[in-house]
Amino acid sequence: MWFFSQEEKELQNVCQSFAQKELAPKAAELDNTETFNLEAFKKMGEIGLLGITADPEYGGAGLGATSATIVMEEFGKACASTTLSYLAHSILCVNNIDKNASKEQKQKYLPKLITGEQIGCMGMSEPGYGSDAIGIQTKAKLNGDSYTVNGSKMWITNAQNSDVAYVYTRTGDHKKDLTTFIFDKTMPGYSTGNPIHKMGMKASPTGELIFENAKVPVGNRVGEEGDSVYHMMRNLELERITIAGLSLGIAKACVEQCLRYANERKQFGKSIGEFQLVQKMIAEMTTELEMMRSFLYTTAKSYDEGNVSPARSRVLAAQVKLAIPKMTTKIALDAIQLHGGYGYSREFPVERYMRDNKLNEIGAGTNEVMIMIIAKQLLKDSLQKMS
Ligand SMILES: Cc1cc2nc3c(=O)[nH]c(=O)nc-3n(C[C@H](O)[C@H](O)[C@H](O)COP(=O)(O)OP(=O)(O)OC[C@H]3O[C@@H](n4cnc5c(N)ncnc54)[C@H](O)[C@@H]3O)c2cc1C
Repeated sequence: MWFFSQEEKELQNVCQSFAQKELAPKAAELDNTETFNLEAFKKMGEIGLLGITADPEYGGAGLGATSATIVMEEFGKACASTTLSYLAHSILCVNNIDKNASKEQKQKYLPKLITGEQIGCMGMSEPGYGSDAIGIQTKAKLNGDSYTVNGSKMWITNAQNSDVAYVYTRTGDHKKDLTTFIFDKTMPGYSTGNPIHKMGMKASPTGELIFENAKVPVGNRVGEEGDSVYHMMRNLELERITIAGLSLGIAKACVEQCLRYANERKQFGKSIGEFQLVQKMIAEMTTELEMMRSFLYTTAKSYDEGNVSPARSRVLAAQVKLAIPKMTTKIALDAIQLHGGYGYSREFPVERYMRDNKLNEIGAGTNEVMIMIIAKQLLKDSLQKMS
């Protein structure tokens, strides 16, 4: 982007070479075998990317949404699955601890998470509460110097691999009585369920967190009881911007693959790129890619600079999260079409791009929930202007 700083351009270069060397060559095989790229994950720690937004005092890079989105785009283009796990670790776990936890908690957890010695996850969704995240029912009750937690979390990225889990619970009857705890995998009564097998993002482990009279010390409570709704909403905004970056990376991968194939593949004695209907697909997908990139990075910059109101910031994050994954699914479907039978086979990566991207229309809030957030706020603003 024209407005990237020198530091952001350098980060982009580092991520591009890392992704080409450590992620892209293994993406298809890891998708087939549903295997997490632990080796690459550890190397991300070595080059300082696992604490991209975290305070340098704890080993973080101290960067913002724009930089985190650059990482997500470049990694997402090479291996969406590994990038989803990167998001769960760096944005959902590390960033949440960095922004909301106490100094003691940060000192205890962040350094190991940021070097990659430990893996993190975030548990918000439950079997019965997904879009209605504020309704969660995993209950935490204070007993002396610890809380007893009962319930379960569903669809948690990195669940089985995580040493540390950032977990939202209910501590009261009021809708907003939500409280967060940091769980170590060794805490009594806390376990993870069987892996969940998915249509895409197969190299990113997904599972359940189970709490059966689990004991977590008061010292592991993040903030005060009832503090968590604000924390949850603020982090969801960053999650939505950065997951749109992952989707943008998949769209870029589709476009590059289509341009190559349209020149290589011959039918009726010509390259298929000479047919106007194929040109239409290429013209549309490349134009959509440019639109998405401008919108996304403008939104990320504006998040970093804080130059819009909190309500506008929430709407923008929901808009990029709605528009980009939706457009990328269309681009990925066109990419399959452009490849004909080969596109439908596993010989080419475009079918994986489509399977992987579909998650981006569901995780971090579904398309329908984004529509609800955007429309509600804009209608409210309009009503206020009229009165
Ligand atoms: C691979 C994967 C990884 C994930 N990782 C994590 C993670 O790390 N941590 C975590 O906490 N969660 C995670 N999630 C959960 C994810 O955030 C939820 O799946 C998502 O929020 C949707 O919730 P749900 O699946 O319960 O669907 P539901 O909420 O049951 O939605 C079902 C359908 O109803 C629609 N709907 C619901 N409410 C409304 C409404 N008010 N208006 C209109 N339509 C509506 C939805 O849009 C959807 O189409 C992950 C999910 C997946 C699939």
